[in-house]
Amino acid sequence: MLKGTGVSPGIGLAPAIKYYKQELVIPEGPGKGVESELAAYETALAIIIKETEELAQNTSKNMGASEAAIFDAHVMILQDAELSAPIFNAIRGGDNAVHAVCESMDALIQFFDEMEDSYMRERAADIKDIKVRLISRLLGVEFRDLSSLPEKSIIVANDLTPSDTAKIDKTHIAGIITEVGGRTSHTAIMARTMEIPAIVGCANATSTIEEGALIAIDGSTGEVFMNLSEEEVADFQAKIELASHQKAALKRFADTRSITKDGHTVEVAANIGTPGEARRAAELGADAIGLFRSEFLYMDRNTLPDEDEQFFAYKESLLAMEQKPVIVRTLDIGGDKKLPALPLPKEENPFLGYRAIRISLDKQDLFKTQIRALLRASAFGKLRIMFPMISSLDELRSAKSIVNNCMDELTSEGTAYDKDIDIGIMIEIPAAALIADKLAKECDFFSIGTNDLIQYTVAVDRGNERVATLYSQYHPAVLKLIQMSISAAHAAGIPCGMCGEAAGDPLLMPLLLGMGLDEFSMSASSILTARKLITELDYFRCKGIVQRILELGTAAEVTEELKHLKI
Ligand code: PEP
Ligand code: MG
Repeated sequence: MLKGTGVSPGIGLAPAIKYYKQELVIPEGPGKGVESELAAYETALAIIIKETEELAQNTSKNMGASEAAIFDAHVMILQDAELSAPIFNAIRGGDNAVHAVCESMDALIQFFDEMEDSYMRERAADIKDIKVRLISRLLGVEFRDLSSLPEKSIIVANDLTPSDTAKIDKTHIAGIITEVGGRTSHTAIMARTMEIPAIVGCANATSTIEEGALIAIDGSTGEVFMNLSEEEVADFQAKIELASHQKAALKRFADTRSITKDGHTVEVAANIGTPGEARRAAELGADAIGLFRSEFLYMDRNTLPDEDEQFFAYKESLLAMEQKPVIVRTLDIGGDKKLPALPLPKEENPFLGYRAIRISLDKQDLFKTQIRALLRASAFGKLRIMFPMISSLDELRSAKSIVNNCMDELTSEGTAYDKDIDIGIMIEIPAAALIADKLAKECDFFSIGTNDLIQYTVAVDRGNERVATLYSQYHPAVLKLIQMSISAAHAAGIPCGMCGEAAGDPLLMPLLLGMGLDEFSMSASSILTARKLITELDYFRCKGIVQRILELGTAAEVTEELKHLKI
C-alpha cells in the first residue's frame, strides 16, 4: 500500500494510467544524416495522422461530430504539404528532424498568434498541440492527452498543474494520484470541485504503480491499494455503492435552509470555476456562490477571454443561481496558477510576488475588460465583485476607483448594470486581517481565504508536501486572525464569509459558527454534508466555546478540543 494526503474524498477503483510531463529537449545539429532524418519525420507524421484519424472516429462515435471536428482539422493540418515543405527543406539543409519541426512550427505558431481574427489566433493552439505530438513521437517520449484518456482510469502523475487538471474529462476519471502537492494546492481544490477522489503528496507513486494495473484509492485517508484480490475488488465496489447511497440520502438537504437548531441562519455556498459548476451548485441547493475563481475562464487556452465572452460566462452563472448571490473574484493568477496567454516572469518567490490584484492594478486594460464584463452581467442577478490578495487600503481604493471609472463608461454608453453592486475583498494576507477594521469601513463584505491566510501566517508553502504537517487551520494564530476579521466586519456592519477550504471542514464548523461567520463557501461536493451539520448545531452553544478554544496554545490542542466538543 502507498500513502499520501487524501484531498478529495471518495473511493476510486480503476486501471492506473501514468501521466508524464517530460521535458522535450530539442537536439541541435544534423542528427543521423539527411536520409535517416527525412525517414524519421515521414514515419512520425504518418503515425500521428493515423492516430488522429482514429481519435476523430472514436470521438465522433462516442461524443458526436462537432466534438470530433477539432481532430478532423488536425488531420487536415498534418496532411497539408505546406506544413511539411519547410521541414523537408531544413532537413535537406543539414538540420535534424526534431529541430526542423520545432523551428518551422514555431514560425507557424507565431504567424497565427499575430493574426487579428480571434478564430485564426486559436489555430495557433492546434499547431502547438501538433508540434508537441510530432516532437514527442520523434524523441520517443510518450505523449498522453489528458482530455481523451480511456474511460475510467486513475491518473498517476508526479504533478498536475491547474491547467492540466482543467483538461480532465471528469466522467472518464475515477481518481487522481500525484507525488507532490498539498491539500490546498489548486489541483486538489479542482479535484474536489469535480468530485474526483484524489490523493496528493504520494511519494514514489509513478515508480511503484504499474501502468494499466487495477488499483483502488481512498481519497479521504490517502491510501492507494495495489495487487488487489478478487475479494478486495468486491469490497471496494461495495464501498463505492454505499457512498452513492449515502450521497442520495443527503439530497434532502438540497432543499432545506442552512439554519441551526436554535434558529440562526447562515449561508452554505459553493466555490466554482466555470458556469457549468454554477449549475451543479444550484442543483445541490447552494445558498450562493461564495467564490467564482474567474481565473479558470482564462486557463487552458492561448488567448485571453474578451469582454463579451466573460460577460456571457458571468451572466450564465447568475441565471443558473436564480437571484441568489454570486461572488466573482477578479483574476487571481501568479503563485501556482499560470496562464498560457499571459506569461509571467519567473520569480524566486512567486507566492510573494507578482500575483492577483497586483497584476490587475498593473495591467489595467486586462482588469478593466473584466470589470466591464462583470458590471454588464450584474444587470442579470445578484453579482458581487471581490478583489483577491488585498494587503492595504491603497490597493482597495485603487481597485474601487477602476470600478468607478468603468461604471462611468457604461453609464455614458447607456449600458445597464447594478449601480448598488457590492464590492468586497478576500482576507487572505495577515496584513489585511490586522487592518480589517479599516478595510471593513470601505467595502461591502469580507471573505476569508484560509488557503493563503494559513500559508502566509505560518510561512508554509500551501503546495509543499514536505512541510504539509505545519500547514494547519487549527493553528491558534490563524484562528485569531479569523476571529479578528469576523469581528471587524460585524463592527462595521458588513457580513463576513469564508471561501478557503477550512470553511468546509466539519471539525472547524462549530467554532466558525460560534465566531459568527455568516457564509461558508466550499467545494460543491461538501455542501450537503455541511448543511446537515449546521442544522444539527446550536449557535448559542457554539458561541460559548470560542473563548476557551482561542486560549489554547497549539494546533494539536485545538484539534483535540474540537474532536471532543459536546454541543
Ligand atoms: C484562499 O486563498 O483561501 C482562496 C480561496 O483562494 P485560492 O485558493 O484560489 O488562492
Ligand atoms: Mg487565495
